Formats: sequence, structure tokens, C-alpha cells
Amino acid sequence: MHSFFLPSGTLMSAKKTTRVNDILGLINGLYPPALAEDWDNVGLQVGDGRATVNRVLVCLDPGAAALQQAEQMGAQMVIAHHPLIFRPLKRLSPVDETGQVLFRAVQQGIAVVSAHTNLDRAADGLNDWLAERLGLQQATPLEQAGGDLLKLVVYVPRGHEEKVLDSLFGAGAGQVGDYDRCSFRVAGTGSFRPGAGTDPFIGQPGTTETVEEVRLETILPKHLLRKAVSKMIQAHPYEEVAYDLIPLNNGRHDIGLGRIGWLPQPVSVAEFSAQIKERLGLSALRLAGPTDRPLKKIAVCGGSGVSLFGEARRQGADCLVTGDVKYHDAQRARSEGMLLVDAGHFATEHLMVAGLAKKLQVAADDRQLPVEFIEMNTEVDPFELI
Ligand SMILES: [Zn+2]
Repeated sequence: MHSFFLPSGTLMSAKKTTRVNDILGLINGLYPPALAEDWDNVGLQVGDGRATVNRVLVCLDPGAAALQQAEQMGAQMVIAHHPLIFRPLKRLSPVDETGQVLFRAVQQGIAVVSAHTNLDRAADGLNDWLAERLGLQQATPLEQAGGDLLKLVVYVPRGHEEKVLDSLFGAGAGQVGDYDRCSFRVAGTGSFRPGAGTDPFIGQPGTTETVEEVRLETILPKHLLRKAVSKMIQAHPYEEVAYDLIPLNNGRHDIGLGRIGWLPQPVSVAEFSAQIKERLGLSALRLAGPTDRPLKKIAVCGGSGVSLFGEARRQGADCLVTGDVKYHDAQRARSEGMLLVDAGHFATEHLMVAGLAKKLQVAADDRQLPVEFIEMNTEVDPFELI
């Protein structure tokens, strides 16, 4: 229970309420939708952003079972990894499972949200949790995602640098790894001639002016662009702000699909297999490729990550642990001599339920949002081994 009261002395006391949009804001801050694949459908799938939420169910699949549990426990929101709406819908009718869930969600006023490939790619998201669960150290993204960053250059009259920089940093610009408020500045001379009808901060319409200006540079991810530029323009004294946006090929080193890291010491395939089974709650694993070499450098990708096999091999991995391995993938592992472990789609992703519920609870508590995140604990792997 979290309550929020106005300072003593006021006659009213107000309890803060959490809305669907507040939760979406938490998710978007931690797992920006811009990180999702183009083919994906993340974010709000059903629901009213203004609706009140005090209980949220976190699960892997937004199926009938999840909706039923949400109803039973009085949750007004379901956050699932897999999207509920993925292919274009031709009708909204309870004739198939998707239709049934959508229909029921609307009837019961339960919002359904997906955090999918944005959660896979993000720092402290699904793939970091999987790497951590399997005991990997110094894990970094396997996929080298480039082109997510922009350099922003803005020309500011001397004396206004701090205000403009503060506005940019406040919008999330200037983050480089664990460092924030990163910028560069150099002084120079700017010139301009205000046109008729302008109201220049410096100078007179029709007269060329030269002004001592500072060129400020900082960096920002694309998804913050709109917010950062609008804050910067608000903080800038000029009527017309001169700024440049330069796309960079640098990627953020903590974002991307899959992870690659090291085991504390080399282990045999038998030993590592036993560890995976124990840590992911599996009774069996499928292996393809060489099983006679010790393993030290391990690549992982939750769900279907075989497409990262080549990248894992290029980066010198001894093994890739993922799910949904097919016959020809197994053949490739054998012929190219890198171990491929199929731990199943379910087991390599199900750990997101606990990870996401905890992460969102901390974020909500930090903002004093009264809401409770509950982990769905009845989901099972649809495959059975007999
Ligand atoms: Zn999946």
C-alpha cells in the first residue's frame, strides 16, 4: 500500500492514483519502443490510457489463462512479453484465442501491453537477465546495433550555455555508458542579419550582427530527439535556433539482441548442460555441434536467437544458448564446429516475468505510484518431454 498526502497545513489530502499511461511511461523509459524490431508490435494493445490501475499481472503470453488470472486477482492491466495483436485483425470476435482475449479484455476493462523486442534489446532487459541466470560475467550485446545515436550541435550566445545544456541533459541527452551530462564546447563568432518583422534577442532588423557564441555538442539516442529538441528550443534565447543533428554509426554498447560473456572458469559441456537445466528449470536440453571441448565464452539469446549463430561464432563464442533450433541450424552447428544449445523458447524467456515485475515495481515505487506488479506463476512450456 502506498499513500501520498499533501503537506500538513493543507485542508485536503489526496491519494495519488496510477493510470495505464503512467505504467506505459515507466515501460517506455526503461525499454524504449524505438528499440523494438520494425515487424514487432509493442506497447498498448488494448485499453484506455486514462484508466486507473492498482494491480498489474506480468506474464509471458497474453492468452486466455493470463486474462482469467488478471480478472480473478482484480488486475486492470496485463503486461506480456509476446504481443497480443501481431497480424492485422480482420474481425474482433471471440472465435479464436486472440479474439477471445481482446473481447474479454475490452469487456472487463483490462489493458493489455506488450514489451517484446524492446525488452530483448534494452540494457537490464531479458537478455541481460538470461546471461546473469546462466552465470555469465561481463556480458555485452551480441548484436552490434549501430546507428541509434545522434550528435546534436547547437550554437548559443555566451552566458546561456548552462541553461541550454541543462535542458538537454534534463531530456536525457549526454549519456555515455555510466557517465551523464557529457558535452563538448568551443567558442567562436556567429553572424546573422535579422529580417524585417523579427524580434531579435540581439541586434536590429536589417543590420548584420556578429555575436560571440559557443558551439555545444552532445549525444542522444534517436528516441529522445523530439523531446530534447523541444526542451532545447524553449531554453534557448534566440528566436531562430541554429542546430545540427548528425547521425552516428556508433551504437550504444549496452543495447542489442543477445549477450556474450564469460563463465567464471571453463567447464565441460556436461557440466554446463547440468547448470543450464538447473537454472532454467529444465529436464532436458538439445545439443548440436562439438561436445568434447571445454566452454568459457558463451553467447545467449532468449526465444528464437539462431539468427545470431554467425555473430556468436565471429566473436569467438564456444557456444550459443537459445530456443527454436531447427534441423538445418543443428547441421550448421556441426559443420561449423560451434556448440548450439536449444534450451527452448519458453525457458529462455520465462525469466522475464520475474525480472520485469521487479524492475517495474522499483520504478513505480520511486515515483510514488501506488500500484502492485504480480508475477503470473502458472505459465508452462507448451512442449512436454516424455
Ligand atoms: Zn518469445
